[in-house]
Amino acid sequence: MGDISTHFNRQEFACRCGCGFAVVDKQLNEVLEAIRHHFDRPLIINSACRCADYNKKVGGAKKSQHVLGMAADITVMNVHPDSVADYVENVHKACSMGRYDSFTHIDVRNVVAHWDERS
Ligand SMILES: [Zn+2]
Ligand SMILES: [Zn+2]
Repeated sequence: MGDISTHFNRQEFACRCGCGFAVVDKQLNEVLEAIRHHFDRPLIINSACRCADYNKKVGGAKKSQHVLGMAADITVMNVHPDSVADYVENVHKACSMGRYDSFTHIDVRNVVAHWDERS
């Protein structure tokens, strides 16, 4: 049992620089729980909240949803990122989603955006 929802702890969303920025958007949290439930496997949050400095350091987009605490880059254990992306695209139509080789970006901005950065 996580401290913010069934499977997640606030710490998993925290900025990796250690600054303490760790807001958790309710809608994002619900989508992650749905993904976790659908695949029934551990879901790893590689990067969720990012302060402006850390976002710059990792080369994130200037208006990145990560800086607003509304995005998460995730992998589901033993599930290909394409399968995660397909599920989100087909079922969570209000979500924005980015396809990458080794993870899937999910965010809950108002206007849906999809992109593909796979090599
Ligand atoms: Zn930070
Ligand atoms: Zn991302």
